[in-house]
Amino acid sequence: MTEFRSVAAATGQPQGPAFAVHGPQDVAAACAAAADAFDAYRATSLEARAMFLERIAEEILAIGDDLIEAAMTESGLPRPRLEGERGRTVGQLRLFADVVRKGAWQQLRIDPALPERQPLPRPDIRLRMIPLGPVAVFGASNFPLAFSTAGGDTASALAAGCPVVVKGHPAHPQTGALVAAAIARAVAASGLPAGVFSHLVGPSNDLGAALVQDPRVAAVGFTGSRSGGLALAKLAQARGVPIPVYAEMSSINPVLLLPEALKARGEALGTAFVASLTMGAGQFCTNPGLILAIEGEGLDAFTAAATSAVQAATAQTMLTPGICQAYASGVTALEGNAGVETLAKGQPGEGTQGGAALFRTGAAAFLSDKAMGHEVFGAASVVVVCKDEAELLAVLKGLEGQLTATLHLDAADEALAERLLPVLEVKAGRILANGWPTGVEVCHAMVHGGPFPATSDARTTSVGSMAIDRFLRPVSYQNLSANLLPPSLRDDAFGDGAPRLVDGVLTI
Ligand code: NAP
Repeated sequence: MTEFRSVAAATGQPQGPAFAVHGPQDVAAACAAAADAFDAYRATSLEARAMFLERIAEEILAIGDDLIEAAMTESGLPRPRLEGERGRTVGQLRLFADVVRKGAWQQLRIDPALPERQPLPRPDIRLRMIPLGPVAVFGASNFPLAFSTAGGDTASALAAGCPVVVKGHPAHPQTGALVAAAIARAVAASGLPAGVFSHLVGPSNDLGAALVQDPRVAAVGFTGSRSGGLALAKLAQARGVPIPVYAEMSSINPVLLLPEALKARGEALGTAFVASLTMGAGQFCTNPGLILAIEGEGLDAFTAAATSAVQAATAQTMLTPGICQAYASGVTALEGNAGVETLAKGQPGEGTQGGAALFRTGAAAFLSDKAMGHEVFGAASVVVVCKDEAELLAVLKGLEGQLTATLHLDAADEALAERLLPVLEVKAGRILANGWPTGVEVCHAMVHGGPFPATSDARTTSVGSMAIDRFLRPVSYQNLSANLLPPSLRDDAFGDGAPRLVDGVLTI
């Protein structure tokens, strides 16, 4: 195949212009250009790099409505959602511009020489973080803007000083091409080498596999399926020089309804839960796919309200025919599972539409069947009813790693919450109280990560300013003269405002 077209999410039919399929030569050319651009790009001043990120944001906004229209057609997501997502995309580019300017990401440390120290003198040792090198980014189908071509992985890698080669998602090539052209305009306007950013497209696994295997690629950022993330991580580990893969993959995001909260507002919780479950046809990595509750007052009210809200929910267009099919198979498997009761199904859909589904099981059945704990990407959720606290803890301990864990609680539930928290911390990247996991704030304290399979590396995050750390590594400079030290580590570098740890003391 030399060309491919995108598929309209609503009809499942090809639409829009044809795109040339990139091959191994294009991968090699993009990686060579990225490697060539690396030194010039990482040498940019903090101000120049921050202005470049801001310029990307401006260029994306300047595309105007064509971008929203393309994303609507390709993803089936509604206009307000995509306009919001565009705001999030430019917002995170600006956040990283601010992070770059402030300079704390360099983690500058200075341990001055102690020539008189006994029994041995201490040498002068200074440390800073430097970028890893070219980063391969795989965007997600469910966020065609904020987790795709100019999404969080691209923004954080560029902020770190790494050139980026994006493997565009085949579900939204038109949207991707518009954004890639905006980034290319920002590269040119900022006087940077073109290799700072490249965009490769094609509808087969081979393209991404070749990209991850290219020896010039130093790290990978990925959002998508568990199978895709694991396949790429395996390839990265099998290279002559293995590289890190930061893959955000699958999560069912347990929501715990604690007894007093359930007693006080079971019905309201049921209605609010289904609003979160069905948002965006349930196609969020933070979708509440598992409800955990202890038998008791309020659980019936919760279940009744959730059941009638699911029954009333209209079917929604899903992102791709493949995702729609995978969702339908997941729902069918739960329906056919003897240990699971189907509580409700939403309004039936047509073509590429998916309807909501709600299931119930007991803790013992859930614990004995690992398949019940696997992600069904879409608006499906399972309520697991536990007899007591011991069963609830057993279910929690048996769960795989999660992006989020949510507690609905009242003041009188706090003692129980305190006992649950140590388990939740071990299982999840973000713990929320009295909210819903959908909606991930882009800020400094956000963790959108968590133990496997939520991600391939629980030590970091793919959303928020800490995401920059994934693409950096520390270098120590021992006894280098001032002339040879990087300017940020010289004694007279205080003017640049970046905080430094001098002999263990934070100095701003
Ligand atoms: P995906 O199939 O994992 O694709 C993500 C990206 O990785 C695409 O660019 C894909 O392109 C590439 N890729 C996938 N498998 C690969 C392989 N073996 N080798 C090389 N490249 C590979 O994810 P998706 O299309 O966005 O959605 C499919 C499923 O992923 C959903 O049903 C859902 O279960 C899950 N998902 C999870 C999240 C999340 O946030 N955790 C988000 C979206 C989707 P090619 O296919 O062209 O190779």
